[in-house]
Amino acid sequence: MSASLLRSLPSVDRLLSTERGQRWFGTYAHDYVTATCRAVLDHIRRDIQEGRLTSTEDVVQERILESVDARLAVTREPHLLRVVNASGTILHTNLGRAILAQAAVDAVVTVASQATNLEFDLERGARGRRESEVEKLLTALTGAEAATVVNNNAAAVLVGVNSLAAGKEVIVSRGELVEIGGAFRIPEIVARSGAVLREVGTTNRTHPSDYERAIGPNTGLLLKVHTSNYRIVGFSSEVSLPQLVSIGRAHRIPVMEDLGSGALVDLSRFGLPKEPLVSESLVDGADVVTFSGDKLLGGPQSGLIAGARARVDAIRENPLHRAVRCDKMTLAALAATLRLYQQSPDLARDIPTLRYFTRPLDEIAIIAEEASRLLSDALGPFYRVSVEDGASQVGSGALPVDTLPTKVLAVVSDEFSADEIAGRFRSARPAIIGRIKDDRFLLDVRTVFDPNDLVPRQG
Ligand SMILES: *Cc1c(COP(=O)(O)O)cnc(C)c1O
Repeated sequence: MSASLLRSLPSVDRLLSTERGQRWFGTYAHDYVTATCRAVLDHIRRDIQEGRLTSTEDVVQERILESVDARLAVTREPHLLRVVNASGTILHTNLGRAILAQAAVDAVVTVASQATNLEFDLERGARGRRESEVEKLLTALTGAEAATVVNNNAAAVLVGVNSLAAGKEVIVSRGELVEIGGAFRIPEIVARSGAVLREVGTTNRTHPSDYERAIGPNTGLLLKVHTSNYRIVGFSSEVSLPQLVSIGRAHRIPVMEDLGSGALVDLSRFGLPKEPLVSESLVDGADVVTFSGDKLLGGPQSGLIAGARARVDAIRENPLHRAVRCDKMTLAALAATLRLYQQSPDLARDIPTLRYFTRPLDEIAIIAEEASRLLSDALGPFYRVSVEDGASQVGSGALPVDTLPTKVLAVVSDEFSADEIAGRFRSARPAIIGRIKDDRFLLDVRTVFDPNDLVPRQG
């Protein structure tokens, strides 16, 4: 039986010669179509051989064509889709962190779709530097002598430590040996950068004398790390950056600070708790400061490095820097974002990340009420939707213990669990990402501007 079933299978050419087969060639790449036909036929052959398919009905040509069609169609939906971030975390690493300003999006489109003077000096008609504009903006905004940029902040720390201390010891407080998530761990980054980690102090307390005692002929760098997503509270003490700088200067050892998020403007201006400013670290004497482009700054994924000219030059000339350099789209988006910090009269309007932070609660409440009405109607009788007070968090390790008051929609049901409700919202297009708290599904409205966005639709 199985032998005759196998014999009855059409060939790839036969499938391709059908009307449907011909249509595929207008929609998909040629090689992809033939490979998919082959894969589907292989699959059926195996099912026949292993006894899962036994009837001639299962292998009629029409069924096979349908299988190929379905398989081809799967790839029509890209993996990266728009989602609605109602998670309550403004800078959500899993949801792509910062939303770019319109000026940054426009800049990306321009350089992506046309030739650009990326490394060409229009004035001199000669080769130019790809980072020159970003460097100019960064030095102006932070007061640094020099600046450079790489792929992300993890790369900035890697290339920074490698440039300043390869083959030497890097002294770090035990209270700052953090893991940021996504496998970024300070001890491992230091090891990969070719330096030797020298831990000092304890988890909760580190004193200047701990650094002093650890310094020796092979010390290459004093590294200070922003603990980002956690805080040590209670009986604790850390060595401040100015103290560390004075120790470094006394021994002629450079000091680098990984600020994590860092900020270019004082967030207390917007009524938010303060994150350390890059410019303050430089005033305090850090030789090199590294920070992310897509955290509080609100730009594209990138790692920014600002500091003393000789140190930044050493980093820029390191071959590792070439390996982790930014592409033109990132540079265009970053420069456009930094230009807003210089030129926008209203940052909280023009930079989405800052807009989310500063959004007035009464505006959030209006959207929440409207969304609640739309959602109650759309979900039908098995669900109850209510508007409640909630708390949004910044995310990405910035301001880890602070929250912002917000309005959330609680969606509950006697029929469905919170997990099932979350799944239903995730399967909508665009997918709607909320969070589950105390066994209830919540949608945070702080990052939602159109109430219709919270109504699940099938794409
Ligand atoms: C987030 C963070 C990093 C990693 O930055 P990416 O831009 O995600 O690579 C490194 N150090 C600290 C302290 C951070 O907070």
